[in-house]
Amino acid sequence: MTVHIHPSVDSGVKQGTGNFAGGTLVCKCTDRPVKVAIKGDVAHNHACGCTKCWKPPGAIFSVVAVVPRDNVTVLENGDKLQIVDTAAVIQRYACKACGTHMYGRIENTGHPFYGLDFIHPELFQESGWAAPGFAAFVSSVLESGVQPGEMAGIRARLKELGLEPYDCLSPPLMDAISSHVAKSKAKAA
Ligand SMILES: [Zn+2]
Ligand SMILES: [Zn+2]
Repeated sequence: MTVHIHPSVDSGVKQGTGNFAGGTLVCKCTDRPVKVAIKGDVAHNHACGCTKCWKPPGAIFSVVAVVPRDNVTVLENGDKLQIVDTAAVIQRYACKACGTHMYGRIENTGHPFYGLDFIHPELFQESGWAAPGFAAFVSSVLESGVQPGEMAGIRARLKELGLEPYDCLSPPLMDAISSHVAKSKAKAA
């Protein structure tokens, strides 16, 4: 049985050029699509199994990366954007018409990832962005209907694709969060 992870990696992870200069994210609308300009390449690109990330139909994982928030500019049809859940840590701006998430922003200045916006690189009109390098929140796919018996196959396929599966974020990102917390605690003490 073929395990489908995400259409952009199912036939192999396409490596980035290493010098992607940025481009334009476009939603799925044929009429008045939302366009968002991104300056420069993406960072920490990964497959994500959480239930909050936007994914294309049929995908079990999203592919999501970060860019500095100052590098994100809404170019066209920004009136179609609305925040999916204003109570969420990440304010995900989605197109009201097609549901595509265009960017997610953290407004809490104390958050370890404050200053970074979350985007889905597959929405770029251009190609060459930094490839996904791991898979996060893998066990969470169970929350979106995957059966426990499918997990071994999913993890094996992720490894085969070179996307090391983690049930939270990757160790470097978890370390970044914890050291941010440690620093905030030291400041508060
Ligand atoms: Zn749209
Ligand atoms: Zn996610």
